[in-house]
Formats: sequence, structure tokens, C-alpha cells
Amino acid sequence: MGNQTIRLGRILGLEISFNWSLLLFFGLIAWTMASDVLPAGAPGQSTVAYWAAGFIGALVFYACLLAHEISHALVARAKGVKVAGITLWLFGGVTRLEGEPKGASDQALITVVGPLTSLALAGLAYLLDIALSALPVPLLVTTLVGWLALLNLVLGVFNLVPALPLDGGRLLGALIWWRTGSQDRGIRNAVTVGKVFSFLLIGLGVLEVVAGGFISGIWLAFIGWFLLSAGSVEGRQVGVRARLRRIPASAAMAAPVVTIPDWLTVGQLLESGPRRSSLYALHDPAGQPSGFVAFGRVLEAGTAGGRDRRLRELATPISAFVQVSPTDDLEAVLVRLGPRLEEGALVMEHGEVVGTISSSDIARMAAELQLFEGGDRRRP
Ligand SMILES: [Zn+2]
Repeated sequence: MGNQTIRLGRILGLEISFNWSLLLFFGLIAWTMASDVLPAGAPGQSTVAYWAAGFIGALVFYACLLAHEISHALVARAKGVKVAGITLWLFGGVTRLEGEPKGASDQALITVVGPLTSLALAGLAYLLDIALSALPVPLLVTTLVGWLALLNLVLGVFNLVPALPLDGGRLLGALIWWRTGSQDRGIRNAVTVGKVFSFLLIGLGVLEVVAGGFISGIWLAFIGWFLLSAGSVEGRQVGVRARLRRIPASAAMAAPVVTIPDWLTVGQLLESGPRRSSLYALHDPAGQPSGFVAFGRVLEAGTAGGRDRRLRELATPISAFVQVSPTDDLEAVLVRLGPRLEEGALVMEHGEVVGTISSSDIARMAAELQLFEGGDRRRP
């Protein structure tokens, strides 16, 4: 998702970004309102007025979507779960959490507040629609407000469908977690239920197409297919995440950090360099630290004809890296790195760099643990 997301800014200390796919759906909503909904509800207006209202409607819809995600994030923060950020895309959003809720009830609260927010917004818009209808307000405005009430209602209800990655799926997972005491089991069962729902939606879509409702049928099947693929990704991640949660950063990091002179050239490092490392600490001729350089960047410079460049030209200051503590687990490290996975993280203790973690360090630890667990399970 890395390069496809654009930062919007910060709201209430939360990092907000959106995915390019959102623009497509934004256009679709504005178009549907301008060409169909608004002309039907408030006939006789100019095309410009329809499009302006459609555009504003789409903007308000995404603001409502953002309110849904922000409610997840605020409750998560109140329950002691760090929030890495919110990404809006297509017709939904993702609130990325660093770490897991402490228990099933926290998980349920963090989840249920989203659909509740959407339903509350739907109710507010509905009441506003009634109030405005009694006043001399243009029909175009009341039609728009009425449509926003309906969109939020759909958003709230759709998100309660018990299929991961929808909120309903997460609620079901929390319920099973509460009943069985196992979070992973909850997620795995929710994934299975989600699959059944997805196939049902696809089947309904096909029936709808056969019955003549081409566009609505295609939409149902598309949503079913989307839930199916998103759910299976979630299912695969459960096992890996559970494994990574058990490994502290200190066990996976490369330490001690390899420190080399910053006046070495790219060519010198590639040909006769010291011990291979994914990240090198640099020092200047006076012995003072002068930043870090990733081996990937050195290799890049080398192949791009920069073999004579000094390492100090490629250096990145410590502050530019994601920093973790030795006791952070690898799953938290992965969430923190997010789209910057290739850069790796610095492991800091008492203000000093005690090790480095690259994506390959994390992958290696996960693979080793899987082998170990696999061997363990085969024992009678
Ligand atoms: Zn939600």
C-alpha cells in the first residue's frame, strides 16, 4: 500500500492518510448523486447545482467515514492501545493499531463504537432532514441530507455484517475470544464465517444478474469477492502475528552495530567491506557518529554508477529512522515500520543504538519459530 497512500494531515494527534482508490469511489458517489439521486429528489435545477451538491455530498460522506474511524482510534487510545494512523480507501477505512487490546471486552468496545458512530450520524442526518423540511430550505439541500442519512445507515449496517475484515467480523472474533479465552481462535472462526457470507453475497449477485438486475448484481458479487480476499489475508496473518508477538526486538536484532568510517567509498564497501550488515553506523575522522547507511542504499548507489561516492553522502541521521525498544515485540515493530519496512528500525536503549532490525531479521525469526513449533506439534 506504501506508495499508493497520500498523507492528509493530523486530527486529534492521529495521522490521517488516504489511498488513491478513494478518488475513484469519490467520483462515483458525486456522479451518482449529481446524475441520479438529486435530479430525482429535486427536479428542475441546473447541472452545475447538481454537481456542486453532489461534490459536497461526497465530501461530507468521507467526513462521516473519517468520524467512524476516528471513533475506533479514540476508544483504542483510551484502552491503552497505541494508534499508528488511519487510512481511508474506496468506501471504508483502516485504523492501524500498534499492539492488541488487553482483552475481549476492550476489543469489542473499540470495534462496536465505529458502526454506532455511523448509525448515530444517520439518525442526526434524518432528524436534520425532518427539521429542514419544515423550513423554507431548497429541496436540493433536504434531498442531500436525506441521502447522507441513508448512506450512513448503510455504512453502519454493512459494517456489522459478521465477516472479517468488517467490524461485525471483529465483534464475532471478540465474542469467541471471550467465550474460549483464545484470541487467535476467535479470529480464525470469524474468518470462516466471513467466507460463508462472502460466498452467499457472490451467489446472490449471480442470481440478481440472472434475474435481470445487472448492475446491482455485479456490485453484490464484487463486495462478496472483496470480502473473500480481504478475509483470507487476515486469516493468514493471524498465525504469523501470534508468532511475532512472542519475540522481543532484542532477540531478532543484529548486534552489536557494525561501525565503519564515513569516508569509505561505495566501491570500497562493496568489494572489501567489513562484516555484512543491513545497516551500518558511520563515524567521521574525529570519531564522532555521523549517521547510518542501509546496505540496500549502498548497493543501489553502486549499481547506479556511484562507486566513488563517499558513504557520508548517503548517510541518514538517527532521527530519520523508526526507533523501537529492545522489549517491543516484533509485531509492534512491524506495525511501527508500516510502509517503511525496507528501511529497517533502530533498537534504542537509554538513548543509544544497541542494534538494528531489518525486514529479513523479522522474516528469519518468524521462519525459525515456525520450524520449531512445527517440530513440537508433531510429537505425540
Ligand atoms: Zn469500523
